[in-house]
Amino acid sequence: MSTIPLRVLIAGGGIGGLCLAQGLRRAGVDVAVFERAPTAAGFREGYRLHISPEGSRALHTCLPEKLFTAVEATSGRPPRAMSFLTERLGELLSVEVLPEDVEPDPVAAHRSVNRYTLRRILLDGLDDIVHFGKECVGYRQHGDAAVTVHFADGSTAEGDMLIGAEGGHSAVRVQLLPHAERIETGMVSVGGRLPLNAETRRLLPRHLNRGPASVLGPRGFSLFIATHQAVIADAYRHLAPPDAGDSVVWGFTGPRGGMPPAGRSGEELRHLVLERLQGWDPRLRSLVEHSDPEAIDAINIRTAVPVEAWSPSNVTVMGDAIHSMPPSLGVGANIALRDAEVLTQKLSAVHRGDLRLVHAIGEYEAQMRQYGFDAVRASNRALKQSATTGTLAFAATKAALRIMNALPPVKKLVFQ
Ligand SMILES: Cc1cc2nc3c(=O)[nH]c(=O)nc-3n(C[C@H](O)[C@H](O)[C@H](O)COP(=O)(O)OP(=O)(O)OC[C@H]3O[C@@H](n4cnc5c(N)ncnc54)[C@H](O)[C@@H]3O)c2cc1C
Repeated sequence: MSTIPLRVLIAGGGIGGLCLAQGLRRAGVDVAVFERAPTAAGFREGYRLHISPEGSRALHTCLPEKLFTAVEATSGRPPRAMSFLTERLGELLSVEVLPEDVEPDPVAAHRSVNRYTLRRILLDGLDDIVHFGKECVGYRQHGDAAVTVHFADGSTAEGDMLIGAEGGHSAVRVQLLPHAERIETGMVSVGGRLPLNAETRRLLPRHLNRGPASVLGPRGFSLFIATHQAVIADAYRHLAPPDAGDSVVWGFTGPRGGMPPAGRSGEELRHLVLERLQGWDPRLRSLVEHSDPEAIDAINIRTAVPVEAWSPSNVTVMGDAIHSMPPSLGVGANIALRDAEVLTQKLSAVHRGDLRLVHAIGEYEAQMRQYGFDAVRASNRALKQSATTGTLAFAATKAALRIMNALPPVKKLVFQ
């Protein structure tokens, strides 16, 4: 069967956009990525990212074998359990993700990866495809067969279709779906990290040996803690960030009114968090005290508002550009990877001549709206639940978690 030449333009070279570029290149589709950052060296975030079996499967579908092997080789120890604790480190619920004696499925595993490392892997082999210093400011469609994308530097690029993958502030979404809202949740998260060594290991609740933990404290405050422990072979060491090493990451979340973070330095943010950790287990306070203030940062948590179906065209959106969500469940990047997987499959079918372009985009958008906005709703529910801490509703949630913890079959069902 003859192939149909198709030129795909992607605005935004983040996790979703780069994974899609890898998948399309692998399928023989002509693709170009336009990234706002001036160079690849701009990507220095060293934070841990949880990759779910779904995200891992998407990476497996899109990446050439050698790059998927690099993801495997640089992943941290797989999480075995997820725990919910009180601020005095009492166990509310601990759910097994993977029994100790079971090896993770190499394709569909829960993984702990370093963002910087993942970005380096996703960029591998795309030198001639990714154009840096290109901030997309809008586009012009020429029917359903061609599109011109415009950049802040006055330049343009032409293609058959455009995908907005520029994260929460997507210019493509604003033009394509001006009614799609992204709103404040009223919650703030302050994040930090510290090296994992003999001294800091002593500070970790024992539950952290098996996987991440969420500490649900009073007055709507919660603390997420996870470790990233990776044994990286020499062949892959160049992919690790310059300050690489095992680390502990934490995120302290609470109502913005109780924790206004605007314009504060890392040191001030640390102080702000420590004030709110009064009365919590001293080991939790020490974790924050031991964190490098340079690596402490705050974000206002925002969320997309699910939108009704729209008419498909040769311009679409993926990842945080359309379904940004609170980080409460740690799934945003996984859903962006799933978008990349579905788009790779649909656009490969167009390239093979099996599907018409606008039909393929319509099929992708219908699927994406379903799983993407489901994830937005679930993440918002989880955020709201942690925000009720200290209230009567939270006392009931705590009691329910404890009951579940005592009933292993119920626990398994809830986790699934
Ligand atoms: C604290 C925190 C922890 C998180 N932890 C997890 C986790 O453990 N697991 C998980 O699955 N998700 C997690 N997430 C969510 C995850 O980071 C995002 O959902 C994910 O990065 C979205 O990928 P993306 O490709 O859509 O956007 P991004 O990765 O944000 O990429 C967007 C890219 O577009 C570029 N860009 C921006 N504007 C323009 C423009 N106008 N033109 C061109 N380029 C542009 C940016 O420079 C960037 O490179 C977390 C989020 C936060 C805030």
